[in-house]
Amino acid sequence: VTDTPKITIIGAGLIGLCTADALALRGVNVTVVDAKPGPCQGTSFANSGMIHPSQALSWDMSGVPTKAELETARATAALGARSKTRLESKLEELRFPARPPGCIQIHPDIERAQAAIELQRSLNVRAEICVDRKQSFDQTACIFPDDSSADARAFGCALAEDLSARGVQFIYGAGDVDFDVRKMGYSLTAARRAWAADPIVIAAGVHSTELLARLDIVMTLNPVLGVSADFQCPVDFDDLPPCPIMDVQSRSALTVFEDRIRISGGWNVGTLDPLFARWREIAPGLVNRLGEPLSTWVGVRPVSPLGRPYISATKLPGLWVNTGHGHMGWTLCAGSGDLLSEMILDGRLAPQFSFNEFAS
Ligand SMILES: Cc1cc2nc3c(=O)[nH]c(=O)nc-3n(C[C@H](O)[C@H](O)[C@H](O)COP(=O)(O)OP(=O)(O)OC[C@H]3O[C@@H](n4cnc5c(N)ncnc54)[C@H](O)[C@@H]3O)c2cc1C
Repeated sequence: VTDTPKITIIGAGLIGLCTADALALRGVNVTVVDAKPGPCQGTSFANSGMIHPSQALSWDMSGVPTKAELETARATAALGARSKTRLESKLEELRFPARPPGCIQIHPDIERAQAAIELQRSLNVRAEICVDRKQSFDQTACIFPDDSSADARAFGCALAEDLSARGVQFIYGAGDVDFDVRKMGYSLTAARRAWAADPIVIAAGVHSTELLARLDIVMTLNPVLGVSADFQCPVDFDDLPPCPIMDVQSRSALTVFEDRIRISGGWNVGTLDPLFARWREIAPGLVNRLGEPLSTWVGVRPVSPLGRPYISATKLPGLWVNTGHGHMGWTLCAGSGDLLSEMILDGRLAPQFSFNEFAS
């Protein structure tokens, strides 16, 4: 054993980093281990950038939500609201420029837009019909004024740097982390280092399932593909949407960042063509001027069957999970980190996000 960090987090994506931040703020000695050579190189790499508590309902759901699904979504939306407040102050602290508030959502017709608004109101999310026909798209839409947006990977990289400066240890390029369950705690081996670790937080996104399986814990996460492409902003086009526009039909978004436009999303879509075709219909004036993408990416969302994250203890003492955030990981990262730190350090209970497979 070469050193004795107090809490080890496996995964330097948005969830692992925000968990590290919350624990470090409470004076915990934190080590973050990641298989990749740097932060945010998994699913947190090029997402749509929407901080959208408005999307708290499961995207796997079809039809009218049940009472239980509404309850779950209400809890997720509340965590999203808490997370957004925390994320915004963190973005400010890390000197990210403020962005216009809101996310716009396109619906096939006014009836469905109205129905979506009613549903959101029942989850305590503000929503209204968006009637500004001057936008570069001319669609039936509603706006969620309490949503917002920012570049998730840029934030994650800045946060990792900030955490390093505050004494959090990072072990990147760790390859496959090896566990050994001992009588009292765990020993971890990664990147030719070994240390005793207790507690451990698994925040390894879609790979959390494999890690837990090695400890005989069964956790189901469905990997749901999505794609993204970045474009240079077209010069002399002065009608760029100020906030992200999300299309319900294709589960995709068009987001304008400081220096780029991103078309991204899709639910179980691994190629860009269907997204481009859809966005050419929605905003032809803009999309036909984008030219070739600067970069493209395919990501895999960790989606829990319950449509909400697992922020929880497990059946093994000292082993915690913070994963399964699906299409909501950027929105929920700061709140999830805070919540798990309160659970570990203060014994706070959060049954609405518990991992209920203790018996496995
Ligand atoms: C196309 C797309 C668009 C999206 N848009 C949005 C959006 O607009 N708003 C929103 O809120 N969310 C969005 N999301 C979802 C969000 O990006 C994810 O929920 C979030 O990135 C998940 O973060 P994570 O930290 O759990 O996982 P990851 O970012 O994947 O981090 C897990 C880390 O664990 C590491 N790891 C895995 N296994 C091991 C191991 N054995 N040993 C060591 N390290 C390991 C990985 O290398 C990785 O760095 C989108 C997702 C996609 C794909």
